[in-house]
Amino acid sequence: MLSRRALMLSTAAATAVTGLRGQASRGNPDETLKTDVCVIGGGSGGAGAALAAARGGADTVLVEFESILGGTSTNAWVNTWEPVSGADGLPREIYAAMRQDPLGVTYADYSRGAHRVVFKDGKWQRGGHHRLPREPRAFNYFVREMLEATGRCRVLRNTIFYRAHRRGDTIEAVEAWFCGRRLRIEARIFIDSTADAELCVDAGCDVHMGEDPRSRYQEPTAPETAEMQLNGLTLCYRIKDTGVKQPPWLPKEIPEGVCRKPVHTVVLPNGDHLLNAVGMIDGNAVLEMEYSELPREAYRRVLEHFYWLQQLPPGDRWNRWAPKGYGTWAIAGVAPRIGVRESRRVLSD
Ligand SMILES: Cc1cc2nc3c(=O)[nH]c(=O)nc-3n(C[C@H](O)[C@H](O)[C@H](O)COP(=O)(O)OP(=O)(O)OC[C@H]3O[C@@H](n4cnc5c(N)ncnc54)[C@H](O)[C@@H]3O)c2cc1C
Repeated sequence: MLSRRALMLSTAAATAVTGLRGQASRGNPDETLKTDVCVIGGGSGGAGAALAAARGGADTVLVEFESILGGTSTNAWVNTWEPVSGADGLPREIYAAMRQDPLGVTYADYSRGAHRVVFKDGKWQRGGHHRLPREPRAFNYFVREMLEATGRCRVLRNTIFYRAHRRGDTIEAVEAWFCGRRLRIEARIFIDSTADAELCVDAGCDVHMGEDPRSRYQEPTAPETAEMQLNGLTLCYRIKDTGVKQPPWLPKEIPEGVCRKPVHTVVLPNGDHLLNAVGMIDGNAVLEMEYSELPREAYRRVLEHFYWLQQLPPGDRWNRWAPKGYGTWAIAGVAPRIGVRESRRVLSD
């Protein structure tokens, strides 16, 4: 098992949590909130949990570290859904809301699934894969409005959970921090949607990381013995067609060839391409690399990755969404957060 400290390094939020826990003994909190349900983490999972709880009649508090809702799907720019048969309920409702924003989502036909676009016979057409690109701001805005409309959900953004208070087997309160203010939140039910099991870990639950040995769950494809290999990390980025030739650019200090990775591409509502270079960085880097170094290294790989794509001849597998290749394209933005595909798993009954 890895040390707790190593596990904590998996996200920026987690790093901040580590520091804040040290402050927990400093007197009383500045404010106490009492509620039925408290959800920690406002990513896709937590936003959905809070919405369902509030609509079900529970007074709800949603605690989110970032300034926008959506977690990985907005802050790490994994802003594309793959709605398949059965992806109904809240996703469909959120999708319908986002359509009100003309540049909110790429497609208008949720029920048929969203296909990748391909440029064929001189125009954009539906391609083979089911994808539903959307803009992070649209998700954040409409989900925030839906939560507000319940009249029962208080959304605390830029607020970080750092401590659970337990009585026996029950969590009776958590502490969170917002702009120098320490909050105590008491609730009947707590939901951990931090993706890193922050609340579960602080409450004393067991967690696993890495690949399970085959003997644990009898999964035929599992390795014989446990292996500490996490799924790869990706810093997603978006590119734009500038319409004029762009000389490929790579800063001198970045070696050529460090990031020639397969890429998943989707076309965003405004025509930008969102690029997800699979396995850009080994997943174990969250444990092994100095955290301040990780975002820097990821950014360097984005630059090298696009430098490579820009020079591929038109018609290559990796630039096929741009019929003339990427020679006139440029990087238009890089996700604020590295996409972490895997961290802890909570052991439950
Ligand atoms: C590059 C990439 C590609 C992917 N591709 C696919 C795909 O093709 N198909 C698919 O189904 N899935 C895919 N995934 C996985 C999918 O994106 C995630 O499973 C999903 O977004 C996780 O949602 P979540 O709500 O559980 O967690 P997150 O979205 O990570 O949300 C967790 C939230 O908790 C907050 N938080 C954490 N700690 C604290 C704290 N202490 N206090 C307050 N808030 C806190 C975080 O800020 C965050 O907003 C991909 C992931 C990545 C990174």
